[in-house]
Amino acid sequence: MGLRPRVPAQRGGPDAEDNPWHTGAACRRDEAGLFFAPSKEPTAARLAREEQAKRVCARCPVLLECRDHALLLPEPYGVWGGLTAAERRVVLARRRRHDQEQDLPIAG
Ligand code: SF4
Repeated sequence: MGLRPRVPAQRGGPDAEDNPWHTGAACRRDEAGLFFAPSKEPTAARLAREEQAKRVCARCPVLLECRDHALLLPEPYGVWGGLTAAERRVVLARRRRHDQEQDLPIAG
């Protein structure tokens, strides 16, 4: 497959030297186009592609750094750190809820 729709700096783009963790990324050359959806991708194809991408992530030596990056930015698209965009939204929502609970005044 051709080039990815964008080449994130964190995965080997022009600013990769600012993110040294990325040099070990298993997806540096995503020739199969696993990590970002093509336009108008049917749901079944998306699910299959994301599972394939996650299998690459599972053996990636920088999975945790990548996941942290994607959650911190946050990256809105693609599979990062073994998580889809929807899964990252769930993680971030849980974190927000947790943080809000920590800020609640103690009743009584
Ligand atoms: S964890 Fe996945 S998306 Fe992140 S750098 Fe590794 S292979 Fe790429």
